[in-house]
Amino acid sequence: MKVAIYPGSFDPITYGHVDILERSSKMFDRIIIAVVHNIGKKALFTLEEREKLISNATRHIPNIEIESFKGLTVDFLLEKQARIIIRGLRSFTDYEYESQIARYNKALYPEAETIFILAESKFMFVSSSGVKEAALLGGDVSSMVPPHVFEGLKQKLKEIEAHS
Ligand code: ADP
Repeated sequence: MKVAIYPGSFDPITYGHVDILERSSKMFDRIIIAVVHNIGKKALFTLEEREKLISNATRHIPNIEIESFKGLTVDFLLEKQARIIIRGLRSFTDYEYESQIARYNKALYPEAETIFILAESKFMFVSSSGVKEAALLGGDVSSMVPPHVFEGLKQKLKEIEAHS
């Protein structure tokens, strides 16, 4: 059974992530979306909210599971007895950053293999941070995220406005 891990912050999930998942689900038997629980990094959505948004966005993909993890990706791989890490590549900047992380992971766990999947052209510019910035300034990001994620972003905007 080929198991792959797709780690990330998913704050929030975008159509770019969904596209990577749809394509990789055809290549592996089981994909575990590993939502990073990073205490140091301030996320807009809580871990539970991010997991719920991912679950709604990936209902149509059968072989997907959602879990969260803290610490090293390679430790999560070992825990799941998996060797494959999936990452998406949008640009040369992504490549520089991602290749370094992949080498670290390999140094820490030589069995680990990172598989890079090229972003679909129409989602190449889409990032969770860009979507958050645009949505929180009132921008229409409906072409970049599923409708329930857009609703979630609008709700966050309301909460922020109510507290300022
Ligand atoms: P991280 O905080 O680990 O960078 P992200 O949630 O931003 O996590 O991204 C998770 C993975 O999805 C990364 O490999 C990232 O390059 C990839 N990714 C993000 N946005 C897109 C996109 N629009 N198209 C393809 N891959 C993407």
